[in-house]
Amino acid sequence: MTETAVAETNTGRDFVRDIIAADLAAKRHTNVVTRFPPEPNGYLHIGHAKSICLNFGVAQEFGGRCHLRFDDTNPTKEEQEYIDAIERDVRWLGFDWGSHLYHASDYFEQLYKWAEYLIQSGNAYVDDQSQEAIRANRGTLTEPGRNSPWRERSMEENLELFRRMRAGEFPNGARVLRAKIDMASGNINLRDPVLYRILHASHPRTGTAWCIYPSYDFAHGQSDAIEHVTHSLCTLEFEDHRPLYDWLLEHLPVPSRPRQYEFARLNLGHTVLSKRVLTELVRGGYVRSWDDPRMPTLAGLRRRGVPPEAVRDFVKRIGVAKANSVVDVAMFDFSVREVLNKMAWRRMAVLRPLKVVIENYPEGQFEEIDAVNHPDNPTAGTRRLRFGRELFVERDDFMENPPRKFYRLSPGREVRLRYAYFITCREVVKTPAGEVVELRCTYDPQTRGGNAPNGRKVQATLHWVSAADSITAEVRLYNQLFARPDPDVANFAADLNPDSVEVLTDCKLEPALAATASGEPVQFERQGYFCPDPDSTPNHIVFNRTVGLRDTWAKVSAVSSAQRGA
Ligand code: ATP
Ligand code: MG
Repeated sequence: MTETAVAETNTGRDFVRDIIAADLAAKRHTNVVTRFPPEPNGYLHIGHAKSICLNFGVAQEFGGRCHLRFDDTNPTKEEQEYIDAIERDVRWLGFDWGSHLYHASDYFEQLYKWAEYLIQSGNAYVDDQSQEAIRANRGTLTEPGRNSPWRERSMEENLELFRRMRAGEFPNGARVLRAKIDMASGNINLRDPVLYRILHASHPRTGTAWCIYPSYDFAHGQSDAIEHVTHSLCTLEFEDHRPLYDWLLEHLPVPSRPRQYEFARLNLGHTVLSKRVLTELVRGGYVRSWDDPRMPTLAGLRRRGVPPEAVRDFVKRIGVAKANSVVDVAMFDFSVREVLNKMAWRRMAVLRPLKVVIENYPEGQFEEIDAVNHPDNPTAGTRRLRFGRELFVERDDFMENPPRKFYRLSPGREVRLRYAYFITCREVVKTPAGEVVELRCTYDPQTRGGNAPNGRKVQATLHWVSAADSITAEVRLYNQLFARPDPDVANFAADLNPDSVEVLTDCKLEPALAATASGEPVQFERQGYFCPDPDSTPNHIVFNRTVGLRDTWAKVSAVSSAQRGA
């Protein structure tokens, strides 16, 4: 992990950090080992970023280590593409597992031996019931389950059947291995949970070596124990699995004794963080790809132009707690703006161009004007803009019949062009249909640099680009993928925002933007933060809007702190 990543994820105290600090103080542990355990069945998303920052962050803060462990126990859903994407995205976020890259599949042989151990100690049995029968006999929250008719098989018979399961003698679903715990337990996870199932499927790493695969519950805690993980941090839905996690560790000769702690998962408004839904969005063509800039995946955020620092800043602000909640996306946008404001150089771009002709500026003449790259960072230097007779301004910056309080261009009104001159609108050129196509203006040569010598004021400063050397580009404006703040996961397609992307194809950019490297953020003055999309070619430049400039979160928090009387 980089130095900055350490500092930013150090969020001060939360219950996880308190537990770890107490364990170290009491010498229950001398070293902290955590892990981030993704299942390679999809791309990582902003929710995973919370878990990554927590696991890698605490390991770093307490001088320990964090493993990246692929929880690859379900070969029907897992793919190499996902494995590669996960490694890339964890690195992008600023974390490094060093030599500690592991896979649950690395432990298949050991897990198998432990399964035999459970059989031999009378704690597991082979069940011939169908999946449906197992489900039907599991009982409910209010009724106990029913014992399987195969529950009292002899140890020898169980062992023989389990070995034959491994040898591939039975079809999928014919038999399972179950822990023998308690079918009447108040915790349904303890009602003889399934430890192994038959699955004749090729695995990305182990190929066809196995046709039985361990369940999540049988793999996870034992993998933690093998790796000497001390604090196994997972989300709240695993709280009810903890008694099983502990039961297995207590009944197996494992080399260490990890403990599981649960924290609240991240939920974001207007966003779905279910990998199943994200997969369907991609497969169903609702978005272009896993890295579509509207996706909440780390790959999508990166393509949209979100820097990893912003993701870490956001995770730090939301903190780690035990109560589930939904975070407003405006809070994420706030972090993105905070970080981009510091790093993005300023440029001028006109997204919906309206031509301006400066009638008193000589035809064929140009002059060069210096413009700063970053207002708060003089070392960023300046670039040259060319001012001439023909320019573009933003269509929205002109109104023929403006209401009161519209201070930008309108007939007879004077405004400032940023870094350049004051101009006054003299005449509006329209098509026969009445569409405004050009403004005829005059400039005041006394106002070079944007200030009048007599102290005359104007109410508005507009951005602009010179028509002669502007470059034409495509700009993609993104809005929420889901229209509703709480999309219905069961019927997500109905809640998609039909206007989640707006493509503008005739945008005019200042020439310096031609040289912007892919992924490099820039601020288009008065508009927002943008970055070039990988679809760009030398002849066709494409920018994505990362986030607009308007900060709704600051308003929201100002209002709520005012309400609290702060
Ligand atoms: P699945 O439904 O496939 O299990 P998952 O999102 O839980 O999806 P995993 O690959 O199992 O995916 O997640 C890896 C780790 O990330 C787990 O420890 C999980 O608890 C954590 N995680 C997943 N989603 C979130 C979230 N929204 N907020 C915080 N942590 C999360
Ligand atoms: Mg999971």
